[in-house]
Amino acid sequence: MQGICLLGATGSIGQSTLDVIAQHPDKFFLVSASANQSVDKMADICRRFNPQRVVMGSQAARDELASKCQDLDVSFEWGADALDSIASDSSVDQVMAAIMGFAGLKPTLAGIRAGKRTLLANKESLVTAGKLFMDEVARNNVVLLPIDSEHNAIYQSLPQTSNGAHKQDVASIILTASGGPFKSWSIEDMASVTPEQACKHPNWSMGQKISIDSATLMNKGLELIEACWLFDVTPNEVEVVVHPESIVHSMVSYIDGSVIAQMGNPDMKIPIAYGMSWPQRIETNVPPLSFVDVARLNFESPDLVRFPNLKLAADAWFMEGTAMAVLNAANEVAVSAFLKGEIGFLDIARLNERVLMSADIRSINAIEDVFEADLYSRRLALDLVSGGGF
Ligand code: NAD
Ligand code: MG
Repeated sequence: MQGICLLGATGSIGQSTLDVIAQHPDKFFLVSASANQSVDKMADICRRFNPQRVVMGSQAARDELASKCQDLDVSFEWGADALDSIASDSSVDQVMAAIMGFAGLKPTLAGIRAGKRTLLANKESLVTAGKLFMDEVARNNVVLLPIDSEHNAIYQSLPQTSNGAHKQDVASIILTASGGPFKSWSIEDMASVTPEQACKHPNWSMGQKISIDSATLMNKGLELIEACWLFDVTPNEVEVVVHPESIVHSMVSYIDGSVIAQMGNPDMKIPIAYGMSWPQRIETNVPPLSFVDVARLNFESPDLVRFPNLKLAADAWFMEGTAMAVLNAANEVAVSAFLKGEIGFLDIARLNERVLMSADIRSINAIEDVFEADLYSRRLALDLVSGGGF
């Protein structure tokens, strides 16, 4: 039996992870779970899965949850230190890192430092802390399994050894992108996109922030950086290809001309179940892929003029140091401002570029450097949003 700590249990990845646990009660059990504010959803999770410990984002949310679940034998806690504590708890075997955004970095690292097998959905933590994150993984002998569908596909398509996938004989990585809901829109039409339109992803049902990131292609930018850290390559060795059907989840191209792809219906339960059961496989309730129904798979190049975020991410990689944390923080502020109606859709990439180009980029020597860059860049982005005219 594997004990799971589920960080971000009330989100989209959290829900899919709970589905996999529920389908395999003989293999997995929920030791602990966290959520920011969703009290009702968490109360439901407590009743269904009976975890030992639950952490909420505020004392008010914790108190409300505790009063709703008085009859349950659960330890209700709140705050950042409690998150670190559940991720590193001795009764946990695997940590599912599924908090949204930079807030996921600290508890994910706490789990890694405690040597926990880490299932990484929270791409922002790896993007911002980069080398330091991967150094901690190596130092603590951690099994790190990518849950992001593309990286999970690359992992599955790489040569396997007993301690994970390796990039032996690899020529390049082909990272697929759906292109998002505005793939074929004119720039004029994109200027007036509403949050509601941007949240409607054609193939995946996901949290708000990643849905907006998919629409601006910042998600693919973050994933480009994520792939570079995970698989020890540079953006020059990663080709981004738009594949609107989201059936080929990514590919690995080898020196002999072979290309290996991982495919499947677009459902996050597949990479989640793979991560939880690796190196074995377990059943999911995702319907098998019917090639006859899919019939046609399309591929095209991304348009970097209408979607400048993808290029910005590559730029940030080559700028090194805190550049990726700066870009990520600017983007988190931009997405939240867009969702609140404070800026337009095209302003997201504009704000990202403005912050990345004007920020003071430093080298990362300790995790504090990443937190400082995040805070600084957030302030800069917020000032630009409130001042307008960027
Ligand atoms: P979501 O918005 O649906 O859920 C986010 C979860 O994190 C919720 O449980 C929420 O309570 C918690 N949370 C949010 N802010 C927090 C904070 N400040 N402190 C503590 N907890 C907080 O998001 P999601 O779509 O499930 O995505 C989660 C992560 O997984 C993101 O990093 C995303 O990029 C990544 N991811 C998601 C998908 C997907 O299909 N949804 C695919 C690949 C990667
Ligand atoms: Mg992805």
